[in-house]
Amino acid sequence: LVKAIDVTKSFDAFKALDKVSLEVRRGEVACIVGPSGSGKSTFLRCINLLERMDEGAIWVNDELMGYRREGDNLHELADREISRQRRRIGMVFQRFNLFPHQTAVENVMEGPVQVLGQPAAKAREDALALLARVGLSDKANHYPSELSGGQQQRVAIARAMGMQPDLILFDEPTSALDPELVSEVLDVMKDLAASGMTMIVVTHEMGFARNVANTVTFMEAGKVVETGPASEVLSAPKSARTAEFIRAVH
Ligand code: ATP
Ligand code: MG
Repeated sequence: LVKAIDVTKSFDAFKALDKVSLEVRRGEVACIVGPSGSGKSTFLRCINLLERMDEGAIWVNDELMGYRREGDNLHELADREISRQRRRIGMVFQRFNLFPHQTAVENVMEGPVQVLGQPAAKAREDALALLARVGLSDKANHYPSELSGGQQQRVAIARAMGMQPDLILFDEPTSALDPELVSEVLDVMKDLAASGMTMIVVTHEMGFARNVANTVTFMEAGKVVETGPASEVLSAPKSARTAEFIRAVH
């Protein structure tokens, strides 16, 4: 479903991504791990076109992201085409970025109503079903400030699901949470994975990577150091750097 080839991105003279490649099949969960500054967030941002890569190519669902090919030439897509592609990709960030002046259910219905043009009644019904799925039926009319961090993050996941995306990107979804709230969010992500959603998850939660991920990719200094089946990369890493990192985050 996702194919990234040699994605390269510099900020001035600094190469944040250096020929990063990754393939994720439909229904798979790919975890990306690596030290701070290794380019994990930048890579996710390139996938959903929040950031433009300098070189390389990314396909999602067999569509080249951001460009249209004409013969041997690539042309940048128009803004509305970019918006259309971006709508197919959900994103959940480290900090819950809910709309503060909307209740949980309003947050989840916002995209379907405003972007997909669904009637409000139908969108509300779907949003309530999604909140039930993430275990928040009783919080539908609460504002974000009235929810715990873990609950807010579950609303953010329900909101991403509400757009019926092809793929959801997670950028350290639990690293801003109090430790006792981490597992409720990971459980929701695990259910989502079991339902067949394709997910790319930047995380330091090695238990999640081990139990849920199909593949694990270790990045350092803008490069992919190692990638492969989760069990192999976590239990028998080929690179000494990967082994050292996995030991350190345990
Ligand atoms: P962390 O684990 O801390 O979130 P990361 O692996 O997500 O790190 P990135 O946020 O992708 O790392 O950043 C990779 C490198 O690119 C860092 O050195 C960062 O300072 C740099 N960088 C990222 N965004 C920008 C930007 N907009 N302008 C300049 N440099 C940037
Ligand atoms: Mg990051």
